[in-house]
Amino acid sequence: MSNSRQGIGMTSARTRERLVQRLIDQGIRSDIVLNQIKNVPRHLFVDEALASRAYEDTALPIGLGQTISQPFIVARMTEALLAGFEGESVLEIGTGCGYQTAVLAPLVKKIYTVERIRELLTKTRQRLRDLDIYNVQFRPGDGWEGWRKYCPYDGIIVTAAASSMPEKLLQQLAPGGRLIIPIGPKGKQDLTMVVNHPDRFEQVSLGPVSFVPLVKGK
Ligand code: SAH
Repeated sequence: MSNSRQGIGMTSARTRERLVQRLIDQGIRSDIVLNQIKNVPRHLFVDEALASRAYEDTALPIGLGQTISQPFIVARMTEALLAGFEGESVLEIGTGCGYQTAVLAPLVKKIYTVERIRELLTKTRQRLRDLDIYNVQFRPGDGWEGWRKYCPYDGIIVTAAASSMPEKLLQQLAPGGRLIIPIGPKGKQDLTMVVNHPDRFEQVSLGPVSFVPLVKGK
């Protein structure tokens, strides 16, 4: 962790508390999730030039046309995933800079994460190691395929917007497991939760969101 990034003020406890309070005001209730938002150093996930804005509740560019998710959305998705969580393993699609991964990692046993841009994955692997996060396994690849090897997963979280429900992700979901995924075209995305019941997949809408697209193919 470089010293130049500390002591500028943006890492101060007060700045982070303000973000947490904002998320509480917006309806985030889970203490373990709020605690993670407070503890994960989001300024280390963005370019130094944007570090002063890291604790604003907004998505920010991280290069290569990608973004770091808005803290409220990360909290909302994490909370929704964990509300029904009785298992151990989570599949994450769209690793990006790894912020969502870092928020979730201490709250579950194991995360398997898939990202199509190798360059991002290399940096993120190192970043999470620097933060002493070791229960994450990374894979370059196409998230539409999921990650068969370690399925079924108790939870699946997708942090890019799919044009339709990815069938293979449903197939890799454990009984009782839940999938959190934004679905729909730009400007009309709906955050969707799917619960795998014995006799059916229950689908619940969690509200409108705005993500970069889950790209099809290589
Ligand atoms: N989870 C990140 C945000 C990720 S942005 C955070 O916490 O900030 C979405 C990511 O999904 C991008 O890195 C993008 O490259 C990746 N992505 C898009 N389509 C994909 C696909 N088909 N398979 C895997 N990753 C994909």
